[in-house]
Amino acid sequence: MSILITGGSGFIGSHLADHLLDESNDKILVLDDFSTGDAGNLDHLDTDRVEVRDGDIRDAETVRETVGDADAVYHLAAAVGVQNIVENPLNSLKTNLEGTENVLEAAAEDRTPVFLASSSEVYGKSEDVPFSESDDAVYGPTTTTRWGYATAKATDEFLALAYADERDLPVVIGRYFNIVGPRQTGQYGMVIPTFVEQALAGEDLTVYGDGTQTRSFTHVADAVELTHELLENEDAHGEIFNVGAPDPTSINDLADRAIELTDSDSEITHVPFEKVYGEDFEEPDQREPDVTKLRETLGWTPEADLDRILTDVIDERTSEEVVAE
Ligand code: NAD
Repeated sequence: MSILITGGSGFIGSHLADHLLDESNDKILVLDDFSTGDAGNLDHLDTDRVEVRDGDIRDAETVRETVGDADAVYHLAAAVGVQNIVENPLNSLKTNLEGTENVLEAAAEDRTPVFLASSSEVYGKSEDVPFSESDDAVYGPTTTTRWGYATAKATDEFLALAYADERDLPVVIGRYFNIVGPRQTGQYGMVIPTFVEQALAGEDLTVYGDGTQTRSFTHVADAVELTHELLENEDAHGEIFNVGAPDPTSINDLADRAIELTDSDSEITHVPFEKVYGEDFEEPDQREPDVTKLRETLGWTPEADLDRILTDVIDERTSEEVVAE
């Protein structure tokens, strides 16, 4: 079988490629434009079983051809990262709307199963934690750019469910909650790689806002295993699942733990969100998944705790430093 991962040179996509190669004899086809991904993320893989195509998911013909060569699709390519979305809203919206429509339309031709990577962002600024899949979403005004990402991902979900319903497309939607681990870049505002790099360099850790906001950090190894199991499980088709760890951590606690585990002398500095993202920026206080549906369907939920996540990221960053020296 040939399995397509759109966005396969990215953080989650490259870990998914590792996992699928380990777990099966399938060939992996990657479609990526390398905008936020890195070809180096796939360098360690057996090239006989991996084919990488440089292409843009906004190009319907490229997508049609590539999906046509695949027996299943993990659709992960997207414009990601709050900073990226706020700075490049038009490109982000087009990638996340047109790109997903191209993938779903192409997959519908042969009813090729699709996993759609969605996001906890679709819950918006709802305060009704923990979030379960059928809960209401609460968004701010369309003049606040960050909600464009949430509503684009929500529209992707509407599209996927409509393709499932009207075109009989086998599709599973996974709402990822702060997936973290080795290979994630801090370049687009992701908090764990940023804190670990700051702590290792002995710089202040920059906590946005007052740091009491909480997030549910999920190890990428758990996320890709769950992603694979969801697409393989026919009971999951046509359904939406939260893919996240159920224990939230405040950003202040995360910063403290990053300092402790790196044995760093760094201090914590609080920076107002508006200073980083502009006056109209809004940030939800809490993000926590209800994982009942995931547990009932697959029998397990993410297992790695925050210390394991931080230790894996620290080990990766420190071994890179040793190699670089
Ligand atoms: P990433 O930036 O590492 O991966 C995205 C990949 O898509 C990159 O390789 C990028 O080059 C590629 N890409 C972007 N635009 C493209 C285009 N127009 N054509 C082809 N390829 C394109 O980010 P990630 O964290 O691995 O995210 C993967 C998916 O998971 C995304 O759909 C994202 O929205 C979703 N997600 C991630 C998280 C998280 O915590 N990491 C949380 C929620 C949702």
